[in-house]
Amino acid sequence: MGPDGQTRFIADVNVGRLAKWLRALGYDTLFFKEIDDDDLVRIGLAEGRVLLTRDSRLMERRVAALGPLKAILIRSEEVQLQLKQVVESLGLDCRRRPFSLCLECNQGLESVPRSEVRTQVPTYVFETQASFHRCPSCRKVYWRGSHWQRMSEDLEKACFVEMAE
Ligand SMILES: [Zn+2]
Repeated sequence: MGPDGQTRFIADVNVGRLAKWLRALGYDTLFFKEIDDDDLVRIGLAEGRVLLTRDSRLMERRVAALGPLKAILIRSEEVQLQLKQVVESLGLDCRRRPFSLCLECNQGLESVPRSEVRTQVPTYVFETQASFHRCPSCRKVYWRGSHWQRMSEDLEKACFVEMAE
């Protein structure tokens, strides 16, 4: 559990897309392109994160030797079904804080005045969007455009809820 009692995750290298989708739902999810099993387990235990992996050998090892680390063996190759599995097995709240984290950095997004993003987004976007958010780490700017809409539709399917506000 994180500081606010929310479930947090650490994703194995084989479930990178799932990590992004959990971030899209607002769930703090660590992901490293390269990390060995020992470090995954160590960080998971130290930070009380749920380990997500498709590696059944890692899971067997966990049962044998790793004690209290919580882990989920992801069954599907399809990211939508992967997300559904995690949401269902932990009873995640899909509507709690969707689109509050940077998909790349796992950092909380900050709202940013329109005037500050004028040169950072396409003109059409600037003229049609009222509110913008920015990642404090990579400075990527987010807005509720077509990508956001597609993603929330996919999240709805995985979560069986309507995400629209
Ligand atoms: Zn970022």
